[in-house]
Amino acid sequence: MLNGKVALVTGSTSGIGLAMARALAQSGVNVMLNGLGDADEIEKTRADLAQETGQEIGYHGANMMKEDEIVDAVEQTVKTFGSIDILVNNAGIQHVSKIEDFPTAKWDAIIAINLTSAFHTTKAALPHMRKSGWGRIVNTASAHGLVASPFKSAYVAAKHGIVGFTKVTALETAGAGITCNAINPGWVRTELVERQIEATAKDKGCTVEQAAADMLAEKQPSMDFVTPEQLGGVLVFLCSPSADQITGISLSVDGGWTAR
Ligand code: NAD
Repeated sequence: MLNGKVALVTGSTSGIGLAMARALAQSGVNVMLNGLGDADEIEKTRADLAQETGQEIGYHGANMMKEDEIVDAVEQTVKTFGSIDILVNNAGIQHVSKIEDFPTAKWDAIIAINLTSAFHTTKAALPHMRKSGWGRIVNTASAHGLVASPFKSAYVAAKHGIVGFTKVTALETAGAGITCNAINPGWVRTELVERQIEATAKDKGCTVEQAAADMLAEKQPSMDFVTPEQLGGVLVFLCSPSADQITGISLSVDGGWTAR
């Protein structure tokens, strides 16, 4: 279905982004990975994914806080694979603290990585997508793109921002063969959330598993974590012909979090 298409997935060296890259590669897409981490581990991840899927898998180490590196990631994707058909803006970080104590540098980094980087990638990718007359842009937002929680001011602001940016991108590209949508996950047990579970366990003086259960009970009525693989499947659906007329939406995959 997506055979021969080319994707850039930001923040795909671990967690949700890596599962999304895998789901695309399993659907015949050549993928440019991106993200931070140990160089040897990233090369192993890249090589394993290429071997496992038989697709061409590249890696670009752009820091999503730096415009020139972000633009270069888009251009190198086109240079390496001949096009950029699918752009997944997924890179993200979190910091949990009340506003009065929130370090300004953390605010700036979260807004830069979780929101502004998507503007830079989209701006650089759109001319290529318009030229080919086909494109899929999928932004990893969050339940926190629709509702708030205390102590996550920068994250909630960035995720609400990306939901708005998704809608504008959808309107500006409507009718051009390009769609732009957001996926809004609830709790997914990746590194980003594991750190929050551990902090909660420490605060409450309980076990990590009790803290995980408490976090689900507070927010996610299904009482189960979303898996990265499920999000990969949702991404592939949004890239499929069935989703040609889906644009500008936030697709919640949150076990009912935002239903109440
Ligand atoms: P993760 O920490 O496993 O992955 C984050 C990825 O972003 C990694 O590849 C990391 O290297 C990359 N990254 C971080 N800073 C970067 C930078 N400056 N430049 C380039 N890459 C950078 O976390 P995850 O849970 O897989 O998060 C992926 C996305 O999903 C994020 O946007 C996050 O906000 C969103 N999300 C996660 C959850 C969840 O419960 N885990 C829920 C909703 C939304």
